[in-house]
Amino acid sequence: MSFANFLKGYSKLFAGALLVALTSSVAAPNAVSAATPQHHDQVPGFYRMKVGDLEVTALFDGLGVFDPHWLRGKKATIAGVAKALHEDPHMLDGAETGFLVNTGKQLILVDAGAGTWFGGGMLGRLAGNLRSAGYAPEDVGLVLVTHLHSDHVGGLTTQDGKRVFPNAEVYVAKAENDFWLSPEIAAKAPTDAQPFFQSAQAIATPYLETGKWHTFSGSEAIVDGMRLVPLPGHTPGHTGYEFSSKGQKILFWGDVIHAQRVQLRHPEVTVVFDIGATAAAATRNQLLPRLARENVVIAGPHMLFPSLGRLRKEGSGYSWAPVAFADQWIDR
Ligand SMILES: [Zn+2]
Repeated sequence: MSFANFLKGYSKLFAGALLVALTSSVAAPNAVSAATPQHHDQVPGFYRMKVGDLEVTALFDGLGVFDPHWLRGKKATIAGVAKALHEDPHMLDGAETGFLVNTGKQLILVDAGAGTWFGGGMLGRLAGNLRSAGYAPEDVGLVLVTHLHSDHVGGLTTQDGKRVFPNAEVYVAKAENDFWLSPEIAAKAPTDAQPFFQSAQAIATPYLETGKWHTFSGSEAIVDGMRLVPLPGHTPGHTGYEFSSKGQKILFWGDVIHAQRVQLRHPEVTVVFDIGATAAAATRNQLLPRLARENVVIAGPHMLFPSLGRLRKEGSGYSWAPVAFADQWIDR
């Protein structure tokens, strides 16, 4: 068979396979093993956890796989990652996750996923999963955002400029607001950073226009039992939100870690999206020991779903102790 014929045959095979895939998704779960049809749908993407008196619900926005070229560190460390990836191609798997906190008085969303602003159609499941978890977008009264990258705030606004959470007051650090929403800073930014400025602007606009966009600059009390934790480096106003209830703590840490299996072992490794790389590494150096010592529950948008866990000290770095699935309403 000539190479051209091989290609033709291959494309036919591919077209056939595609047809099977398309029809099987409509007609039968799997035409290949019809004797025991497979089911390819999953459970809804939410997971609830009790933290003191708080109900915390992780909302899956989509699967995220981190690109090794986005890592920055010592040559030997980065080469080690590239080598490890050969044997373990899923070591940079992660997630996009947002979180609901129901205090009993208020329903709070911390980070909103990407919506349609980032991820090429792979993300944006958060609002659907919020409904699956028994809530409606209208129920959300408050949104706290860790920073204004579109994979954390895109879920707030539709492409045609409508608010997804019409009753929510949105809070963001003033330093973050003043950076991403400044036309002067945007004008001076490199071309590949421009989309981040444009999307931040477009996502914020409908909330700004209705007076529902608020900034904080210090340690203002926004919610009872929650404190602001400045986590500078990744972005100028990158901020965590730490809730305490009945002696338990949970920190919504935004983008402290992007690639959990690399950066927990090597907290000095940064990513190309860190605007202040040195500060981002310093933030981890300062923060991680405390979180491990105090057994703080971490809600990390890019940690593997349900993106909830704790840190354990291990060698010169840390390991991740994920929260295990439970179908009961118990402390974990
Ligand atoms: Zn992110």
